[in-house]
Amino acid sequence: MLTALRKIIEGVSSAQTLNDAMKCMVSQIKQALSADCCSIYLSETSQSGSVFRLAASDGLAESAVGKVCLGEKEGLVGLAGSRLEVINVAVARDHPGFKYLPEAGEDSYTSFLGVPIMHQRKVLGVLVIQQKEARKFNDEEESFAVTLAAQLAAEIIQAEMKSELTPGARSGVFRGAPVSDGVAMARAWVWRPHIELSQVALKKADDPEMQLELFRQVILQVQMELDSVLVRFEGGSVRDTGDIFDMYESLLNDPAFSNAIEDEIMKNGWTASSAVRITAEQIIAKYEGMTDAYMRERTLDVRDVAQRILSGLSHSEVDEFDVTEPVIVVAEEITASILAEIARDKLMGVVCLNGAANSHAAILARTLGVPAVTGVKLSLSKVADRLMIVDGSKGEVFTDPEPAVVAEYREIIEHERHISETAECESSGASVTRDGVRVPVSLNVGLTGAVSHSDKSLIDSVGLYRTEISFIVRNSFPSEDEQTEAYRRLLESYAPLTVTMRTLDAGGDKQLSYYPQKEINPALGLRGVRLTLEHPALFLTQLKAMLRASVGLGNLRIMIPMPCSVREISESRRLLDQAYDEVRASLPPEERESFARPPFGIMIEVPSVIYILEETSQYTDFWSVGSNDLTQYLLAVDRGNPSVSGLYDPYHPAVLKVLRYIAETASRLGKPLDICGELAGEPVGALLLLASGYRSLSMNESSIAKIKYLIRRADTSELAKMLSSVDLTDPDMIRKTFGEYAERIMKDSAEEK
Ligand code: PEP
Ligand code: MG
Repeated sequence: MLTALRKIIEGVSSAQTLNDAMKCMVSQIKQALSADCCSIYLSETSQSGSVFRLAASDGLAESAVGKVCLGEKEGLVGLAGSRLEVINVAVARDHPGFKYLPEAGEDSYTSFLGVPIMHQRKVLGVLVIQQKEARKFNDEEESFAVTLAAQLAAEIIQAEMKSELTPGARSGVFRGAPVSDGVAMARAWVWRPHIELSQVALKKADDPEMQLELFRQVILQVQMELDSVLVRFEGGSVRDTGDIFDMYESLLNDPAFSNAIEDEIMKNGWTASSAVRITAEQIIAKYEGMTDAYMRERTLDVRDVAQRILSGLSHSEVDEFDVTEPVIVVAEEITASILAEIARDKLMGVVCLNGAANSHAAILARTLGVPAVTGVKLSLSKVADRLMIVDGSKGEVFTDPEPAVVAEYREIIEHERHISETAECESSGASVTRDGVRVPVSLNVGLTGAVSHSDKSLIDSVGLYRTEISFIVRNSFPSEDEQTEAYRRLLESYAPLTVTMRTLDAGGDKQLSYYPQKEINPALGLRGVRLTLEHPALFLTQLKAMLRASVGLGNLRIMIPMPCSVREISESRRLLDQAYDEVRASLPPEERESFARPPFGIMIEVPSVIYILEETSQYTDFWSVGSNDLTQYLLAVDRGNPSVSGLYDPYHPAVLKVLRYIAETASRLGKPLDICGELAGEPVGALLLLASGYRSLSMNESSIAKIKYLIRRADTSELAKMLSSVDLTDPDMIRKTFGEYAERIMKDSAEEK
């Protein structure tokens, strides 16, 4: 049976489409088990509900494939799908759940084995094996079917990604991780890293010479790019690239190829991009018509080279991809550069096929205050240009929504706009709760690369400056002077407010391209302060740059990311003292006097540090909780992995207990405490933190007005009472209780007005 299993898996993996894979699977399973019938039902969800549709069968009527459907709890198929368990019965028609499907032609089958096809706790379909003889399938047959169902699940997910399936068809609801609050409605604008040939709009140019020049420059640039890729491969472990690159090179150097493109530009008047598309499509059509499989395969190379040229041209012809109306960006991966290319007033929402709730891409969307949902399994080609609604609070995406849904969301958008306008109106000045508790609200900056132009009157300080971005966007470590200049600009722009700078937090999900590390488990590897302590020269350079930048301003605080031991903290503190002495000694006497050592703090992100807070106390002037990583490490859930994003929960009772313990310890030791993770910028999170004893919150710019508005209407003793009476083991109840409190105080305040 093992051989049969391997053969089926091989057959399925080499199938070109999901339909082929399913056809191959049903006939091979039928054969391997000497069964009389094998079928696959796939789950389909639309706005009117879910069904299981017969998608492939060897044994049932062919005319029923694609047509026969069972409700989500109907028949033995529905039973297997809804109870998430294997149904193995000798005489199916005697089972109370049995449903007869006359059009499927299953009259002659008696026994039934149904196995749910699951992915991430979601039922994708049911695999069914039937036999004429009345018998129960044995254990070995059952586990064979379960193994194949798991294999099939992987194929289905891949097919969904490649858009072969039409989940929800044109008009549908898709679910993902709610990563940035708010609601938006606009056309979907699909972004792909490479421009596809078919995306190029054929256009005539009125400047052929210029187009020709552009094309020639880009050809050179693509040649250089490919050379450097080849060098990288050859320098690394990848060998045998010769063939692929020979083909690329020969195409790029082939005068017939470039002459054909140049002719399209000069003789026929096309733009460079159009000429590339026309020529490449002609060559592809020629190769596709050949009988030789090797030559047919070459169409991929032609396509790839042409797309590389188009990518090069697009940088010079930005207007082809200009976004001129409000859009929801939909992409496989969202990067800072995609978001940066779109004017802020045109960027309404973000939908990402990959990515999890606390990936840096998600934080970026929150920083910009744009509703976003990630980990959405929809097809890029099917949604392009369709009307879309993104509900960043619920994690839902609607494509081509029904008029009733559009009307409902119009109302929600209007209501949200009203609340944020009201909050904006009173966002400046101090935030003090109804019972007179002052709660400073600070700003997180750094992820977008640019220095924020936040109005200083809105905030009490900068609670977190993530310095790594200026390291990530470069090709080598920045020099001390370059760093000093950048930090000085930041410190000056916020002076006299305090700016808390975090030392380099690279590694993990923030890799430096010029310092690649091959680690099997980067989240637990050389990252944060571990990396800088490995390279004291690098660390000292950054510390000195920060210190030099602060001379005469005195508004700097420095903290280290991810320490996990007293040794790391004391060592970092020693290096800071060393850098301070050095910078101080280099100052003229009149500046030396007033140059104080900036407060030194740690981020509380690694669980071990929670148990040694007292021991760290003598080395630290303040603490700042990084709840994003703290949640990740406490729960052992990768914050950037969509497969486990459902388990990433900052409202988990363990996280809440730890947060409370940290606040109590800080208060007992008189240690200033901030929190700068995403939780502080969520309305429910901020109220929960106030209830837990936090009195200083740092967040993204887009959250500031809303959170200050809430703080001013909250009462800390009411909140503390609420926290002590709520069931801490139930995250949904906590969200509900504090969410209702938030709504109530906002409503009361609106009514008072
Ligand atoms: C955190 O982990 O909560 C944090 C603020 O740091 P970052 O998100 O940059 O890892
Ligand atoms: Mg962190």
